[in-house]
Amino acid sequence: MSKTPCTLVWLRRDLRLSDHGALARALEFSEPVQLAFVFDTTILNALPKWKKGSVIEDRRVGFIHAAVSEISARLSASGKVLVTGHGDPVLLVPQFAKTLGAVRVVFARDDEPAALARDSRVVETLASFGIEAISVKDQCIFERSEVLTGAGKPFSVFTPYKNAWLKKLSASDTTERRTGAGQPKPGQPLQKTLSHRLLDAAALPSALRTEIPCLAAMGFSAGNLFDMKIPLGESGAQQLFEEFKPRIGHYKLARDYPGVKGPSYLSVHLRFGTISIRELVRFALEIQAQDPKGSEGAGTWLSELIWRDFYMQILHHHPHVVSRSFRPEYDHIQWHEGDEADAWFKAWCNGQTGYPIVDAGMRQLNATGYMHNRLRMVVASFLTKDLGIHWRRGEDYFAWKLNDFDLSANNGGWQWAASTGCDAQPYFRIFNPVSQSERFDEKGSFIRRYVPEIASLPDKFIHAPWTAPPLVLQEAGVVLGSTYPHPIVEHDQARQKTLMRFSILRHREEAR
Ligand SMILES: Cc1cc2nc3c(=O)[nH]c(=O)nc-3n(C[C@H](O)[C@H](O)[C@H](O)COP(=O)(O)OP(=O)(O)OC[C@H]3O[C@@H](n4cnc5c(N)ncnc54)[C@H](O)[C@@H]3O)c2cc1C
Repeated sequence: MSKTPCTLVWLRRDLRLSDHGALARALEFSEPVQLAFVFDTTILNALPKWKKGSVIEDRRVGFIHAAVSEISARLSASGKVLVTGHGDPVLLVPQFAKTLGAVRVVFARDDEPAALARDSRVVETLASFGIEAISVKDQCIFERSEVLTGAGKPFSVFTPYKNAWLKKLSASDTTERRTGAGQPKPGQPLQKTLSHRLLDAAALPSALRTEIPCLAAMGFSAGNLFDMKIPLGESGAQQLFEEFKPRIGHYKLARDYPGVKGPSYLSVHLRFGTISIRELVRFALEIQAQDPKGSEGAGTWLSELIWRDFYMQILHHHPHVVSRSFRPEYDHIQWHEGDEADAWFKAWCNGQTGYPIVDAGMRQLNATGYMHNRLRMVVASFLTKDLGIHWRRGEDYFAWKLNDFDLSANNGGWQWAASTGCDAQPYFRIFNPVSQSERFDEKGSFIRRYVPEIASLPDKFIHAPWTAPPLVLQEAGVVLGSTYPHPIVEHDQARQKTLMRFSILRHREEAR
């Protein structure tokens, strides 16, 4: 088969066909376009095993597989092929490009340090083959140094960043639909304009016309992902987005209550690019412009999307946050370590701290791979401020368990909660897990869902079972220390210890 000069689009965290930065850029050239995806063994092989045995359970790998399969099915319905591989992209992407006769490879930028290192090696190999590499922005609205202070410095405080971000947005067209080819809605056949520009399956060298590797062949299972009926792939993202649209007006109020369907649940889709951030921002702006009733909710939701860009640019400008505190002086804090800390950490991971709201949040994470934002803040505060355990241990656990795990947002969230980050919660502001619970899960509906062993307690005691009179506990079938743990620490004492722990910073500052 003779090679056809073409443009190869390397899909990564942009697993969709609509409003697609790399595809749009590829379509600007006259050559036909071919799409490819690599199941990256350098990432997959590093994933920890959930339990002993030959198969690694990881919902995220299942999520990616489903999204890739959906793209592949849509392409093949139009006589096209998604080229897929399982291996090291540093070898496979240049190999695909060479086999195809590609003149260039286009991909969306990813600023995580490991991705940057990988991409520079891919670009180097492509260059050695005489193949051009083009990277485009796709994951965020503004990246890297696009939003800077008046003095040309990166922002480290959110509100002025947000104001500058909004100002820049109104002066630019960056949310414009990126693909010139008129992208079809997911689930629909590819539009002729796009289909005509993609390489026909018949034109593909047979070595590249392989089936998508199945999860089991790669040594994975999706855990309970498919049982949970989470909407998957680009069509699933659209479904969730459509469900969220009528709720956006209530977002500001509803988003804080874990028992209420308040947020969009789109984070995993944003993580893997099954939906475009531009599409979401465009919608929030439209609502703000058209509907005064919905605009408060839309404005708050837009702020959350801006937090995402904010933490991405923090990671870009301050890559040290991956292993150290944003503020270097906070690296001197003496976190709680040793056997007791290990036992407490285990209890926290397993949702066995004796604080129902913390346990409910951790159990939601373990059971589903998702945790409500309010609870992420509560459990992170509890680990770092009540148990005095290093935020990095919590960050690692979230990185392992979260479906939407994103290095920049996760690191930003943890350092915010631990008070070690940029624009962080001041260290003396320590969430009280009982009052958080009373405020945000007043009737205990969320707690009852995830901590069934205390479900029969009256609302009054569900937030702090140890305050219930013995008869009430007995009637609810709760035996503290047996059916449900005693609280592992006493909040007020823990608070005092944290203030002491952080006071070292004040002494250091005074000594300067
Ligand atoms: C300790 C901690 C760890 C976190 N780890 C992650 C993570 O690994 N991945 C992740 O996507 N988010 C993380 N967050 C942010 C936030 O909790 C989730 O984005 C949100 O709960 C996802 O649910 P949603 O899609 O329904 O959000 P919505 O409320 O609908 O928000 C819409 C989108 O905005 C973005 N967003 C919302 N809040 C934040 C935020 N504080 N920072 C950055 N982006 C935000 C997300 O992409 C989210 O999908 C973390 C927060 C904390 C406190």
